[in-house]
Amino acid sequence: MNTFEDIIGQDEMIGYFKRSMKNESVSHALIIDGERHSGKKFISRIAAVAMQCENEEKKPCGVCRSCKMAEGLSHPDIITLKPKKENARNVLSVDDIREQLNSDIGIKPYYSKNKIYIIPNASGLNVQGQNALLKTLEEPPEYAHIILLADNREDLLPTILSRCVCLTIKPIATEKIRAYLENVGISGKMADIAIAFSRGSIGRAQLLSSDEIFSEILNDTIAILMEADKLPMTKELEFIRKITDNKELVNDYLDILRTWYRDVLVYKATSSEEDLIFINERAAIIKTANFNTYEELNKVVNAIDETKDRLKANGNLSACMGLLLDTMKEKH
Ligand SMILES: [Zn+2]
Repeated sequence: MNTFEDIIGQDEMIGYFKRSMKNESVSHALIIDGERHSGKKFISRIAAVAMQCENEEKKPCGVCRSCKMAEGLSHPDIITLKPKKENARNVLSVDDIREQLNSDIGIKPYYSKNKIYIIPNASGLNVQGQNALLKTLEEPPEYAHIILLADNREDLLPTILSRCVCLTIKPIATEKIRAYLENVGISGKMADIAIAFSRGSIGRAQLLSSDEIFSEILNDTIAILMEADKLPMTKELEFIRKITDNKELVNDYLDILRTWYRDVLVYKATSSEEDLIFINERAAIIKTANFNTYEELNKVVNAIDETKDRLKANGNLSACMGLLLDTMKEKH
């Protein structure tokens, strides 16, 4: 069974769980915040099993009755909410929160001292769902602990945030991701690309190295970059439409754009192809490096970062992307 030692690079968060379990002061309302595939579910599961473990020395021990039940996914007091109506993004409805959390939480734990609820994709809940959740977060019973998993904590109501201890998943160092990928047989150029777009997440790096959708996004975005200086309006609009159709993947598009300009800046500074991620497209990278000043290139990089910030604050997707592409065309 997995233990805290299997979690790579989240010392602060693990420290919180270990310390607060020892003092019996684990918060009744926790948020684990980190983007998709960054390991929120994995970590919350280990923390829940540890909180229920009966061993005084090592939690989770993997041998006590509680750990055994948890391993068989049959622990009655570790409850992961599931959407009743299946949907692509796995979002819980207000009824799911009412039925699986609010009406269940008053029932005392069956077996353990605690009763732990894991709420996946809490940041995907609509306002009604969040308000229903808030009711329970305001006064949870002494035995209850609620762990919200959030892709983006900014999507949670301030009233929810103020009642929770927020633990954020930190990006993992490149060398650690590389070592992990090597361990599972991914190396060379494939590993380089996966790491470049992993945003410090092992789960993402592993996913990207086998993901067809990502390859498609990569190819589409490269095609746009190759002709950014003379991009016809029809292609620009088609590209923006594709992004709006895949809006949960918009950060992938932006990361590819940013990495491209990072390559351009690297080449401009070193005149060497050695460290380029987009080595196959080096001709276009070199051309852009030669035609633009540092100032112009930095302006594009800043525009990409600003776009990310605006989208995080729920800016309009097609307007933000249109603005960004205009800046790219201007400075190419
Ligand atoms: Zn145990």
